[in-house]
Amino acid sequence: MGETVEVESPNPRGAATGVAEQLDGRRLEGVEAVGKNLLLSFEGGLVLRSHLRMSGRWTVRARGSVTRGRPWLVLRGRGREAVLWGGPVLELNKRAVRRLGPDILARPPDFDAMLSRFRRADQRRALGDALLDQRLVAGIGNVWKAEALWRAHMSPWRPLGETTDDELRTVLGHAAHLMRSSVDTGREERAIYRRAGRPCPRCQGPIESRGQGDANRTSYWCPACQT
Ligand SMILES: [Zn+2]
Repeated sequence: MGETVEVESPNPRGAATGVAEQLDGRRLEGVEAVGKNLLLSFEGGLVLRSHLRMSGRWTVRARGSVTRGRPWLVLRGRGREAVLWGGPVLELNKRAVRRLGPDILARPPDFDAMLSRFRRADQRRALGDALLDQRLVAGIGNVWKAEALWRAHMSPWRPLGETTDDELRTVLGHAAHLMRSSVDTGREERAIYRRAGRPCPRCQGPIESRGQGDANRTSYWCPACQT
């Protein structure tokens, strides 16, 4: 950070984004993780948003290291270079940042800001769908959504409008706690995710699963003890 970087896109699909030519020769001013997004700020107010999904990878290495294949993006500083392999999401603008909600993995997470975003959203939306909306809270994925709702005794199908502020804080608190311990310990405690048909660890009722929301992500829940 703080250095002027040379930027290139050896991969044709990376080059097609036009990102490299706009960033080449600018100073890298900041790097920040917001949820699963990596935000790189450059002089002139440009912000590069990179999301790796399942396949992408950033590596930082000595400048001029041997490259096999064609990385999407190379940021070259004086002594080191950052290389992006497989860049399913590469977006350059100023709005990328503002669209994202508060980071669930911030220390500490800004629950007040999350709450006000949830309250400004359409209150007919179901909890399980809203928790995955990165504009409301950044970083919660499908696994931790299911696990946090189960710990909070709340159904993913309950509308936001039938959920109190305290209940929203509870489920967001569980998500933050579970994800933080997973990052810190490398362990993932799962009670219900991908356990459809098996007994709920709390009440022994059968766990159900069904697709939810526009993206049809599978929700897992126990109808007996999640209301
Ligand atoms: Zn149960």
